[in-house]
Amino acid sequence: MFDALVLTQGEDGKATAAMQQLTVDDLPVGDVVVNVEYTTVNYKDGLCLSPKGGGLVRNYPHVGGIDFAGTVESSDDARYKAGDKVVLTGWRVGEVHWGGYAQKARVKADWLVPLPAGLDTRQAMAVGTAGFTSMLSVMALEDHGIKDGPVLVTGAAGGVGSVAVAILAALGHQVAGVTGRPETGDYLKSLGATQIVAREELNETIKRPMEAETWGGCIDAVGGEMLARVLGQMQYGASVASVGLAGGAGLPATVIPFLLRGVNLLGIDSVMQPYENRLRAWERIAKDLPMDKLEAMVVPATMSDLPKLGADILNGQVKGRVVVDVNA
Ligand code: NDP
Repeated sequence: MFDALVLTQGEDGKATAAMQQLTVDDLPVGDVVVNVEYTTVNYKDGLCLSPKGGGLVRNYPHVGGIDFAGTVESSDDARYKAGDKVVLTGWRVGEVHWGGYAQKARVKADWLVPLPAGLDTRQAMAVGTAGFTSMLSVMALEDHGIKDGPVLVTGAAGGVGSVAVAILAALGHQVAGVTGRPETGDYLKSLGATQIVAREELNETIKRPMEAETWGGCIDAVGGEMLARVLGQMQYGASVASVGLAGGAGLPATVIPFLLRGVNLLGIDSVMQPYENRLRAWERIAKDLPMDKLEAMVVPATMSDLPKLGADILNGQVKGRVVVDVNA
């Protein structure tokens, strides 16, 4: 028997979470059984934990947790053997397939990545889907060329933002972090931000489609009016990695920055990344993300904290990365 946080749906259609004892036979089919050690709370986890499942959860009962790291217990796939350390992100695990909010998970071998040298399972979840996506974003910006001048990171004190700031700074870029929480300024500077931009400065509706060429690149976790505004502030030929929509799914922009400044808008999707890309990103994380900076982002938690943390992240109240020890 093992512990799991199980979401069940009431007659009113609303889901509630409660700890239950399960057996391996209760888990969905898959080729690898993993003893989960750490999981985390990403924005999507907040949606899945919310009463309506955020439109992401298809069936109840459900075990959430869109990412986890742990040790293989048994494997029907030749690529993995008992004792291997693995990390999982994406593939709708935690949304459609049961995820990491349990002490064991059974998944397809294709969805796993062997933990790269230099990262333990706790560090892997301090990175988690949010940090993995930050690295995908950095790689996409690099592929298109990062221009001189500061790289802007929006939603900087959140999960995606914090890891993005730390990676970009470690790679030698000037980093400007946008935050709506001025009290996180020292934290962002400790991660390597050289400039703090107040959210209000960028949240106003655009008045002019183009402003001064300012940013050499951008990782945007916020979307909405902020993204529209930022597009008009990019340097000629610079790129914006569009990651998230914490500030809204709309995009009240004009095409002018694309036409007159050759700005690139790069969509980043962490969910359906092929194995080779995931491996490359995790190896870059192990190499380029300073582990002391990663540690400074960690908010330690246990499974009983999950419902509250899910609500907190949707309200933009989580700073850095929640790391859940599922065996605590
Ligand atoms: P967090 O909640 O940790 O961070 C989001 C941050 O955005 C907040 O901390 C806050 O930063 C800022 N923010 C929140 N609400 C608003 C608002 N109304 N206006 C402006 N800024 C706001 O979430 P994550 O970092 O985990 O995820 C961020 C986004 O990225 C989400 O939309 C998530 O779904 C998406 N995402 C996408 C992935 C992909 O594959 N494309 C993968 C992972 C995440 P501050 O307080 O500093 O202002």
